[in-house]
Amino acid sequence: MTAVREPRIVVIGAGVAGITTAVVLKGAGFTDVTVLEKGSDVGGVWHWNRYPGLTCDVPSQIYQFGFAPKPDWPKIWSSGPEIQRYHREVVERFGLTDRLRLNTEVVSSVYDDDTGRWTVTLGDGEELIADFVVCATGVLQNPAIPNIPGLADFDGPVVHTARWDDDLQTAGRRIAVIGTGSTGVQVVSALQPDAAALLHFTRTPQWILWAPMSLPQLPLTDVVLRAAPRLHDAVYRGLLWGSGILADIVRKDSWRRRAVQAYARLSLRMQIADDDLRAALTPDYQPLCKRQVVSGTYYRAIRSPNARLITSDIAEVRERGIVTADGMLHEVDAIVLATGFRAHDYMRPMTVVGRDGLTIDEAWDGGPRAYRMTAIPGFPNLFTVLGPNSPTGSISLQYTAEKTARYLLDWFERYRRGEIDRVEVTEEATAEFNAQVVEALEPTIWNTGGCNSWYFDESGTVDLWPFDRRTLDAMLGRPDPSHFHVTRHDDLGEVPTAADSGDL
Ligand code: NAP
Repeated sequence: MTAVREPRIVVIGAGVAGITTAVVLKGAGFTDVTVLEKGSDVGGVWHWNRYPGLTCDVPSQIYQFGFAPKPDWPKIWSSGPEIQRYHREVVERFGLTDRLRLNTEVVSSVYDDDTGRWTVTLGDGEELIADFVVCATGVLQNPAIPNIPGLADFDGPVVHTARWDDDLQTAGRRIAVIGTGSTGVQVVSALQPDAAALLHFTRTPQWILWAPMSLPQLPLTDVVLRAAPRLHDAVYRGLLWGSGILADIVRKDSWRRRAVQAYARLSLRMQIADDDLRAALTPDYQPLCKRQVVSGTYYRAIRSPNARLITSDIAEVRERGIVTADGMLHEVDAIVLATGFRAHDYMRPMTVVGRDGLTIDEAWDGGPRAYRMTAIPGFPNLFTVLGPNSPTGSISLQYTAEKTARYLLDWFERYRRGEIDRVEVTEEATAEFNAQVVEALEPTIWNTGGCNSWYFDESGTVDLWPFDRRTLDAMLGRPDPSHFHVTRHDDLGEVPTAADSGDL
């Protein structure tokens, strides 16, 4: 007899990964799906990040869901608010609103060995029971606040870019920006024109590729793509294929990599004529080693009369400003922290307790590890979408999320058919995957380029996807049963009943 029962699936997070998962589950007919989002709106990073100048440096015709192509992006590289609006529209268009609970933070997810179910506890104490938990909590969700002596004593606003204060006055003020990743470069470019003074504190310079980031989409693009959806799909697939160059240049030391690196050096040389400033802006590691920064405006901003690049280390913050290691006090009215994220926290600070009381902190003692980005030994019926080793910066995240969500469908469908109750990836398969990752990471520019970056986890391992898209497709084709422990209640001496297994 084939049982039909509806798994209760809780998806945590309504950013790129969560929205994709919810759309895929809905398309496959799963009806008991709840998406929990701690923010007041969907969009993940595009909701939380609202700093001036926020733009996506990936062209919008590829930085979009494959199932929801948008013909009418106003620009080639769209602004943060535009992308955020797109996420909201997708949620509405795919009828996800009634499955979505905003302003709902999950504080813990605990697995019950006896029932094989998860108890998901919310910030207000409410408990949800789930047969499956999908952590779609993102990579760049927890802001990293630097531990600078005296920061709390500063007599003015201190704001992290990922928690921007819309009331912050920057025009006509002296602004310090700390950090020079993609965010720091964008926020400096945006604040400099109106600031009385813009002081950019950089610990490590970045290579910055020049690109005309404010270009509009070509005229009539929207009309043509709307009239010819198949062409639009072909354009999207073509861009996906073309973006394979990213995975190629980071993985292989080839003329293609060297051409991009030469362009990074040229971008600096062509825009900064002053020798001292150019020397201060020149990194001592190879281009592409850190997550590549792209900007059409930063070098112009930093050579403006009201801007100053400060490379001396920050010693402390005092009431009136920032003191650097050379003993100088730099007086400012506001401090902007563009200091990045605790990128390896993943679903934490949520407490996650799996089989036999194993916590996620214990399981990830040596850094986050998962099987093919998506399953963790010791945590049955829990999956991650865009989890550890996701291909940030080398393969489309929307594509990866959709591939992962479709891969997971296999388990949910088998549960629905009554074939399984519990699925857990094996230690062996996870160790084998991680060994493949370590080997493939060796020649990557992230590893050999001579830099430090947020890509490295606390154990010194790069937490990225070191393979190409074809390998990703192969690894996330269909689950390999030999890589999982699968059990049914009757294997455990328990026969599923209507009460046990939900709606039969
Ligand atoms: P990030 O790349 O991690 O950069 C953080 C910056 O803060 C670095 O320059 C770092 O210096 C500096 N920093 C950290 N702690 C410091 C301290 N105690 N004192 C002085 N400096 C300190 O963070 P992010 O710029 O927010 O970017 C994170 C990621 O978000 C990007 O890599 C990208 O993946 C994504 N992003 C994408 C876009 C886009 O357009 N698609 C835009 C923004 C962000 P060190 O280098 O010396 O550590």
